Amino acid sequence: MMMVGPPGAGKTLLATCMPGLLGNTSPTKAFELALIRDLLGLEFEAGRPFRAPHHSTTGVGLIGGGRTACPGEASLAHGGVLFLDELPEYPRAVLDLLRQPLESGEVCISRARGVFHYPAAFQLIAAMNPCPCGYAGDDSNECCCSASTVRRYQARVSGPLMDRIDLHVGLERQTAATLLATETDGASSDAVRCRVNGTQIRQLERQGTLNAGLSGGALLCHCAMDQTVQRWFEGVSDQLQLSGRAIHKTLRVARTLADMAQEEEIGEVALLEALSYRSRLPQ
Ligand SMILES: [Zn+2]
Repeated sequence: MMMVGPPGAGKTLLATCMPGLLGNTSPTKAFELALIRDLLGLEFEAGRPFRAPHHSTTGVGLIGGGRTACPGEASLAHGGVLFLDELPEYPRAVLDLLRQPLESGEVCISRARGVFHYPAAFQLIAAMNPCPCGYAGDDSNECCCSASTVRRYQARVSGPLMDRIDLHVGLERQTAATLLATETDGASSDAVRCRVNGTQIRQLERQGTLNAGLSGGALLCHCAMDQTVQRWFEGVSDQLQLSGRAIHKTLRVARTLADMAQEEEIGEVALLEALSYRSRLPQ
């Protein structure tokens, strides 16, 4: 997930809530994480990990390597969340290294004495301001960046990594009234965790893997649509000039939304919501 919003929108707070919403990790993943921590001389920690490496981190620090081919932050986030705040501040070459673990859930480090495989199946949560000053699109603060500065800033993160992020979410700054309100209409963490668990069980029972693990024919097979809906989606995809990857990504997200609503078939509403999560940044 990528969150774009001004300072004070609560991006970091939302990211830190994420491990708690994912429920318990599997015993296998917990064991693998314990081994990774042990390799690095770190103590055992229960629960899903939350790792937030600084943008000054090196490629070795992020995905592992070095003289001893040790695991990096991506593996320390195994089964949990890897949070990258201020995404445009990370060097592009470092970010590009994340493509491998994002696709395969593991990191491979080649050395003369062999190839080291470390598990690295994490949820990537990235955050950024809409522009260098942070206030582009904000009603109450004036943005002082020129159009070309904003374009250059946003273009720093476009490309292959952004292409692999399923959910792009825009956030607004929270007003004091919202922050001080005692009554909220949001669901509690417990309720969300229950919904996440229910959705995961539904997916595992149907196809033996989470929707994130579906690709190619299996994805199409489990994304059944009504004929009319399918024709409509084909037209919309053409109009928006969606790439093959983008169409599959939209289907996968729509499948998850339909699962959350406990619906067998993907409908227009799920597809429209899934389309709303695509990136608005220049590619
Ligand atoms: Zn600005």
